[in-house]
Amino acid sequence: MSDMFTFNNRFVRALPADPLETNTRRQVPRASYSKVLPTPVHAPKLIAYSHEVADLLGMDRAFVMSPQFVNTFSGNELLGGMEPFAMNYAGHQFGNWAGQLGDGRAINLGELEGNDGRNWTLQLKGAGPTPYSRTADGRAVLRSSIREFLCSEAMFHLGVPTTRALSLVGTGESVVRDMFYDGNAQMEPGAVVCRVSQSFLRFGNFQIHAAREEHDILQRLMDFSIENDFPHLSLGTGSNTPKVFLDWFQDICDRTADMIVHWMRVGFVHGVMNTDNMSILGLTIDYGPYGWVDDFDLDWTPNTTDAQSRRYVFGNQAGVAHWNLAQLARAILPVVNDAESLGSILKSYSLRYQTGYERMMGAKLGLSEVQQDTDPNLFKELEGLFSRYETDMTLFFRLLGRINPKDSIRPQWSILKESQYGAQADQESDWAAWLNKWSARVLQDSVGKLDAPRRKLMDATNPKYVLRNYLAQEAIDKAHEGDYSTIAELLDVMRRPYDEQPEYQRYFAKRPDWARDKAGCSMLSCSS
Ligand code: AMP
Ligand code: MG
Repeated sequence: MSDMFTFNNRFVRALPADPLETNTRRQVPRASYSKVLPTPVHAPKLIAYSHEVADLLGMDRAFVMSPQFVNTFSGNELLGGMEPFAMNYAGHQFGNWAGQLGDGRAINLGELEGNDGRNWTLQLKGAGPTPYSRTADGRAVLRSSIREFLCSEAMFHLGVPTTRALSLVGTGESVVRDMFYDGNAQMEPGAVVCRVSQSFLRFGNFQIHAAREEHDILQRLMDFSIENDFPHLSLGTGSNTPKVFLDWFQDICDRTADMIVHWMRVGFVHGVMNTDNMSILGLTIDYGPYGWVDDFDLDWTPNTTDAQSRRYVFGNQAGVAHWNLAQLARAILPVVNDAESLGSILKSYSLRYQTGYERMMGAKLGLSEVQQDTDPNLFKELEGLFSRYETDMTLFFRLLGRINPKDSIRPQWSILKESQYGAQADQESDWAAWLNKWSARVLQDSVGKLDAPRRKLMDATNPKYVLRNYLAQEAIDKAHEGDYSTIAELLDVMRRPYDEQPEYQRYFAKRPDWARDKAGCSMLSCSS
């Protein structure tokens, strides 16, 4: 069975390995990775898998259901050709330089070509300690693994660039976690997720070599990234010029800006945008204390660890990404040797984000084009209403698509009322005033003025279903009782988030009151 797959393992071929192969925690100079094996687990059990990712990797149902699959994706067994390793990286955490971090609980199993002709890396998260585990155990708890598994796939189907998830396997072992760092450590069930991505390179992979002044390795890593993941930029010689490196950095800035625009579109808050959690491909990576805004609040963060400094709140994400890109620019400067060009590329990020954000907001409102003299104001006024009246973001935008701008506006407020968390006296007239401006504007737009095309644009931009925090928590609570059916159901509804799916109508609802301040629903920590 295992020779069904041909692992090419490009990363380990191309980059310098840690000469030590013992699994002891240490600083690892002059290496991009360390060879390390997953630590076997007691009683692995397949809890969920993504058939789309399995298909992509050429894994049929018989293989997925076989003992070999669960053994492989729990870390108990290797398939022929796999060469497991943990990556070396550094990072800025919450704005401070943290030095070497690395894959402390992630182990890459191997790389193979998918059915789409592209190269995919398979990586276990929670597969045991590595040289980069520092003081931690290398494991992951079931609750966080469910959240990562479901959200990766939900984001993919929402059209947001993301790493994928193949499988979620329970380990049959317990893990000790102090969820809120308050001295209440508990035993929790452990799990392993197999993540799948074209690349798991983070800004921090480049930062580690820069910080150690390993400029030769830094350049090799940049060349590797270009050859493998940015082939359209490559000169094809395996070693690139400063001009190519600048184009590469431009591409990274563009992708990062586009990713954040998507996050703002669907109401996703990453929660820990440290530079070690920023993908070089502009993918959403490392699902930890992330959250979905229920009520549109630019100042909201799900991460209790960030509750004081509020660095990673919803409305700060574009700015923080820019800061992170500046750290990446600093790291690659010794190879590129052109601070001025790096600086102007960084500037272009802001413009790309701004333009992308406005176009996205326009599409959410049914506009095919942004008019600079009117639309930014229309968006600002809407945000003002959101901050005055607690409004469910997903419900509001989806229901806005049900309002007919040609009909009298005020009576149609009843459609949108469902998106409100409270009822206040002036609410209706304030909303009607904004809706009148919106309807006048949308009727001037070439797409907006036509009912069917407008609705199509809005419904393709405004998802009906997102992985609300309390929904994931319900799946977790049930899983702790041994019932995995909600995981399967959420995975299913999130496969077609823009479709009506009347059978899942109950998921098109505001966050219930009990979930407002509940741990796991609105408050999450980095403990996972
Ligand atoms: P995160 O904030 O989850 O992205 O993790 C930051 C760093 O801590 C990374 O180097 C992780 O590999 C490491 N880390 C997080 N949790 C664990 C764990 N349970 N065991 C070992 N390393 C961990
Ligand atoms: Mg991380």
